[in-house]
Amino acid sequence: MKTSNRLLKIQITGVVFVALVLIWTAVVYELNRSEKGYLREAEIKTSIQSQVFTEFSRSTIRRVNEVILDIRSQWTGDWKSFATLIQRRQGIIDDLTFQVTVIDSDGIMIFSNLAKPATRVDLSQRAHFRVHKEAGDADHLYISTPVLGKVSGKWSIQFTRPILKNGKFNGVLVVSVSPDLFSQFAEKLQLGKGGSATMVKTTGELMARYPITSFAQGPIPNDRLFLKNDSPATGNYRSLSSVDQIERIYGYYKLPQFGLIYVVGESVNDILAPYYTYRRLVLEVASGVSTFALIMFIVLLRSLTTLEKVRGDLELAKERAETSNIAKSQFLANMSHEIRTPMNGVIGMAQILMDTDLDEDQQQFVQDILSSSDSLLSIINDILDISKIEADRMEYDFHPFALDDLTNAVYSLIKVKADEKSIGFHIDVAPDTATIFVGDSLRIRQILLNLAGNAIKFTERGEVRIHIKRKPGGLRFEVSDTGIGIPVEAHERLFSNFSQVDSSTTRKFGGTGLGLAISKRLAEGMGGEIGVNSTEGKGSTFWFELPLASPPDQVTESESDSDYSESVPTHAEEVDVASHEASESDLKPASPTLDESVTVNELPCLLLVEDNKINQKISLTLVSKLGYQVDIAENGLEAIASTGKRRYDLILMDMQMPKMGGVEATRNIRSLGGPNALTPIIALTANAMESDYEACRAAGMNDFMTKPINREALIDCIARWSGHTASDTSS
Ligand code: ADP
Repeated sequence: MKTSNRLLKIQITGVVFVALVLIWTAVVYELNRSEKGYLREAEIKTSIQSQVFTEFSRSTIRRVNEVILDIRSQWTGDWKSFATLIQRRQGIIDDLTFQVTVIDSDGIMIFSNLAKPATRVDLSQRAHFRVHKEAGDADHLYISTPVLGKVSGKWSIQFTRPILKNGKFNGVLVVSVSPDLFSQFAEKLQLGKGGSATMVKTTGELMARYPITSFAQGPIPNDRLFLKNDSPATGNYRSLSSVDQIERIYGYYKLPQFGLIYVVGESVNDILAPYYTYRRLVLEVASGVSTFALIMFIVLLRSLTTLEKVRGDLELAKERAETSNIAKSQFLANMSHEIRTPMNGVIGMAQILMDTDLDEDQQQFVQDILSSSDSLLSIINDILDISKIEADRMEYDFHPFALDDLTNAVYSLIKVKADEKSIGFHIDVAPDTATIFVGDSLRIRQILLNLAGNAIKFTERGEVRIHIKRKPGGLRFEVSDTGIGIPVEAHERLFSNFSQVDSSTTRKFGGTGLGLAISKRLAEGMGGEIGVNSTEGKGSTFWFELPLASPPDQVTESESDSDYSESVPTHAEEVDVASHEASESDLKPASPTLDESVTVNELPCLLLVEDNKINQKISLTLVSKLGYQVDIAENGLEAIASTGKRRYDLILMDMQMPKMGGVEATRNIRSLGGPNALTPIIALTANAMESDYEACRAAGMNDFMTKPINREALIDCIARWSGHTASDTSS
């Protein structure tokens, strides 16, 4: 039981563990998948945005280029009309705020549309001047990194082309555009709070950025993927910004034509914000499910542990109950023995006394001793029976029996009592009833004697009648009387232990209140049922029904009772020991047979093995009267010694004795093969349990009589086993 519980616990733990692993694997997989999904989406989005940024820049650069080409053609050297032209142009292209500067071939600013420089402004060292001067007469658009304007004091990107005169370098036309133009567009891309859009030169210098940052911080570290020459024209990467320390997913797009790269990034935090919400939800649900599973698991384990404990307690209680039952049975066996031994003394001595010369009063006194002893014995037998039933030690012996034998035995016992009270007693057996049945005849007899005994006890006038009739698969027994009857409310409890209708009846009629309880248990033990119909003041009918098979080939009466087990009086037969009768047909020796050499003329020898002095005296008196020459052995060892010396016709053997008991002594006598190996041995014992009888038989004893010894029964028994009839031996 414990192992299966432990196995169940391991299985449950395994299932819960696997379930938790599965739940959390699914959670990790799902979160991973979801996170990757958001990041991939951001990559696509930033790629597209970087492309959009690029396209905007490309068209802006083109427009600026067109403006440069247009106004360059208008430059005549007359700065006044040129200023008017620029002003007009600015009015038309109002979204493209710009500043126009003209530098002469020596690098000196000769025109600015903002204000004519009061002092000489030398720009000859600026990259956008030098690049053209060094290129000679080549005409191309140059885009500078943002520079801080000497005149405007603002950061601007210089878009420049050379002014050529007769195909030769004659100065530079500069259109300055604020980097904000690009930053403002980037802002419109809606990159979220942590987003950024950057326009950089392929050399790493910052051209424009949203959010706006200082241009003074120098070029972007060139370990960035997009700055590598061999990196693809467009792509994504993830990195921590060196500008604002925000981790982003970036998409970039290269514009090699102008040496520019556009990078758009979205903050990983922004990208994953919905994922974080989702993750929190998933984790909460998974944690909830796991916690629930764990709580259920703990509850289940605790329940199992409790169950285990309860089971353990129950098993312990059962064990204790069984142990106490065994102890109780042992106690009963001892008590039975202890009470029967002195009872044998009382009854035996009273019987011996009865045979002496007594006056009438004295005879009555002895008679009273005998009848009181009978009552006491009957009570002891009842208590022993109910205890055996409760300890579940009652055994049933099912065998074929003749119904006639049963009714005759009951009749002869009850009739005497009915006659004493002058009431009628009859047994009717329905005419169609079979004669042989298979069942425990002794237990059936015990129930009938109980019910009929009660009927006689509680009836003052009229009659007691036993009616036996067939019922499907068995017999119905009814015991009716015309006695005091029983009130309806008492019917239920009649069959409980120690239950009597009321205490006054106890006083008037006596009794222990066990008879009906025993009858009920016996009837039920044999698969039947018992009940009562009664009217107060009119009489009662107690009935019981038993399933009793009737053998198809009806066994003859003598065959039915030839079984050895029937030949030995058992405790059940002693319900009324005083009136016990064993018929000749009940008892037939199996072995050994009488020695032919022993004749009736020789004085037969008997060995009495008994340690109790009083019981010795009683048995000695009795068997001496039967004409036996008696030897006495006080214990098993002495018995073995005596049986080795001479041959006996019969041995009466007590069971419980000091030094060596009767069972062991018998075993020795039988196995030693001496002159008494085949001598009949009759157990005379105060031990009245079935197991004792079994032990006697197994040791090789031939018969078994329980103490207190019934004189007539013992005489019969001795006669049977010695080959002399009772009258022969007693004469
Ligand atoms: P006991 O007779 O030893 O008291 P039983 O168990 O045999 O115990 O009977 C229990 C009680 O049932 C009796 O004391 C008596 O009150 C009642 N009883 C039994 N049989 C009868 C009967 N035939 N008529 C009236 N009362 C009865």
